[in-house]
Amino acid sequence: MKCDRVLRLLSSYLDRQLGAADRAELERHLERCRPCQDELDQLRADQQVLQAVETAPPPPYLRTRVMAEIRSRATSSAPRPAWARVLAIAATVVVVAGSACAGVALGSSFARNVHHAQFDTLYGTLPQEGQ
Ligand SMILES: [Zn+2]
Repeated sequence: MKCDRVLRLLSSYLDRQLGAADRAELERHLERCRPCQDELDQLRADQQVLQAVETAPPPPYLRTRVMAEIRSRATSSAPRPAWARVLAIAATVVVVAGSACAGVALGSSFARNVHHAQFDTLYGTLPQEGQ
């Protein structure tokens, strides 16, 4: 099995979607090919980041504080105290950071999946010239 095929199969390997023969051949290749092993390690790390993002609950107070801030902005035109501005900034940072983490993790995983599996699947389903 050559590196390009190994790289296409790594996602399926991690998802335990390979048959026994492909899995054994891929594992033999990984034992002697450092670049493919590194790619597998990176995929595993990406998968762990995704799982952490998927399972991390938002702080329990976040919704209450955001809703309170929205209500205070809607009902008051008076200048807010400094702590309210700090709280609003902190809430924004939490939301933006969480979105960025999710976006990076999803983008990375998506790009890898497209590169390793879906790209060939897509082109494999297109009609060939002359058919
Ligand atoms: Zn290789």
